[in-house]
Amino acid sequence: MKIINHNYINGEFINIDSNENLTLKNPTTEQEIAQIFLSTPSEMNQAIECASKTFESFSQTSIDERMEILQRIHDELIKHEETLIDLAVLEFGATITTTRRRTKNAINLFLVIKEELKNYDFIKKDAYSLTRKEGVGVIGVIIPWNANLAHLCSNIAPAIALGCTLVIKPSEFNALETQAFLECLHKAKIPKGVVNVIQGTGEIVGEVLTKHPLVNAISFIGSTKTGKKIFENCSKTIKRMTLELGGKSPTILLEDANLQEVIPQVLSSAYSNSGQACHAGSRLLVPKSKLQEVENLLLQNIHKLKIGNPKQEETQIGPMINQTQFNTVQSYIKSGIEDGAKLLCGGLGRAEGFQKGYFVKPTVFICTDETLKIVQEEIFGPVLCVLPYENEQEALQIANNTIFGLSAYVFSNDETKALAFANHIRTGRVLINTATSKAKTPPFGGMKQSGLGRMGGKYSMDAFCEIKSILF
Ligand code: NAD
Repeated sequence: MKIINHNYINGEFINIDSNENLTLKNPTTEQEIAQIFLSTPSEMNQAIECASKTFESFSQTSIDERMEILQRIHDELIKHEETLIDLAVLEFGATITTTRRRTKNAINLFLVIKEELKNYDFIKKDAYSLTRKEGVGVIGVIIPWNANLAHLCSNIAPAIALGCTLVIKPSEFNALETQAFLECLHKAKIPKGVVNVIQGTGEIVGEVLTKHPLVNAISFIGSTKTGKKIFENCSKTIKRMTLELGGKSPTILLEDANLQEVIPQVLSSAYSNSGQACHAGSRLLVPKSKLQEVENLLLQNIHKLKIGNPKQEETQIGPMINQTQFNTVQSYIKSGIEDGAKLLCGGLGRAEGFQKGYFVKPTVFICTDETLKIVQEEIFGPVLCVLPYENEQEALQIANNTIFGLSAYVFSNDETKALAFANHIRTGRVLINTATSKAKTPPFGGMKQSGLGRMGGKYSMDAFCEIKSILF
C-alpha cells in the first residue's frame, strides 16, 4: 500500500503535520491501495503565503520564460503518460480508452496555452488609453475526483501563462495520480512556489483557501452544493471566481432523428465516464409517438454494453469511484422506484456477474413526471431518465426546466432545425448530432446553477486576468 504523506510547497515535498488519514481502495477490486494523510489549516496558510510572495517575482517574468516553462511541463508529462493513465484507472476506475484520450488532451493543453500566450492581447493602445491585462495573482484551485489530471492541467497551464501562482487543493480521492503529476512538475524545474499543492479535505483546508485574504481568485470545479458554499466564502474578500458546477443535461431527439444511429450516442453521453461526468446527457427527451421504438433500441444497445474491469480495452462502463458514490447512486435508483418511475432496465444492487467492486447496473427510467428527484437532481452515475414530449415547445420547456444549465445534445436529420432549437436552450454548450465534439478548446462553463465564467484555452486565460486602464 502506498503512503502519501506530504504536500508540495515552495518546490519541495514537505511532510504533512497530522495523523489524520484516509484509506483509498481500488474501486474495481475493493483492495486497499493507498493511505493519504490530511493536512491542517496551518499547512494551507503556509502554501498561500508562499504563493503570494512568489507572485511578486513570477508576475514579472517574460512571456518567453513562461512559454519555456509550459513546454518543459508538457515534455515531462509526456514521458510519464503511461504511469498517469495507469494510476487514473487504478484509483478512479475510469475506463482505459477514456483515460488515454483524456490524458493526451490534458497534457497537450500546455502546448495549446503556450501557443495562445504567444499572441495573447496583453496590451491594447489608442491615442488616449492603454488597456492592460494582468495576471489576477494567487489562484486557489479546488477540484473534484472525476477527471483529476484534466482539471489540474486546465488550471495550471493558463495560470502559469499569465504569471499567476497557485495553491491547489485536489480531491483527496486522486492522491496517487496527483503525486505522479507533482513528480513531473518537480522534474520540469518550474520556479519554486509557483505551484503549491495541499492534500486534505474540503471542509478543513479547502475552506481556508476560499476565505484567505491573500488569495485573489478561486477556480472551483465540483458540485453545485459545494459551489454555493464557496461563493459565500469568497464573497467575504470579493475574490474573482470561476465555478464549474453540476449538470442534468438534456438530450433531445427531434421528431426526424434517425433513432437507430442516434441511440448508441445517447448512451455514450449518458454513461460517459461511467455516468460520473458533469456533462452527461442524463435526461433523454423523446417524442411520445417514438417512445416505444426508443425503449426497444435502448434495451438492445444497453445489453451490448461491456461493463467490467476498466483496464480492459473493450470495457465501456467501469465502477463508481468508491462505496460512497455507489451508495449515492443506489439511493437515487431506490427513490426513482419508490416515486413510481417505470424501471426499463438496471435497478438496485451490484451489476450482474460482480462479487466485488462498485459496479452499478446501467439503469433507465421512463418518467412521465418531470418533478421527480431522479429527473431534477444530478445523480453522477449510469442512470438515464427518459421523458416523453408532445411537441417541440414542450420539449424545450422540459429541457430548460432544471436548476442546471451545463450542456445539451440535440439530434435531428435537419441541422438548421436542430440549430434553431439549440438557440433556445439555456445551457453553456449544445452539441448537435454528436455526443463528442472535435472542436479545439471551445469555451466551457454553465448557465444558471451550473456555474460562473468560462474556461478552456484562451477563455481560461481571460478568466485569470485583471484588466487595468491607463489613461492619457
Ligand atoms: P464536491 O463538490 O463534493 O467536491 C469538489 C472539491 O471541493 C473537492 O476537492 C472537495 O474536497 C472540495 N470541497 C468540499 N467542500 C468544500 C468546502 N466547504 N470548501 C472548499 N472546498 C470544498 O464534488 P465531487 O463529488 O468531488 O465531484 C463531483 C461534482 O463535480 C459533480 O457535481 C460534477 O458535476 C462536478 N463537476 C463539474 C465539472 C464542470 O466542469 N462543470 C467538471 C467535473 C465535475
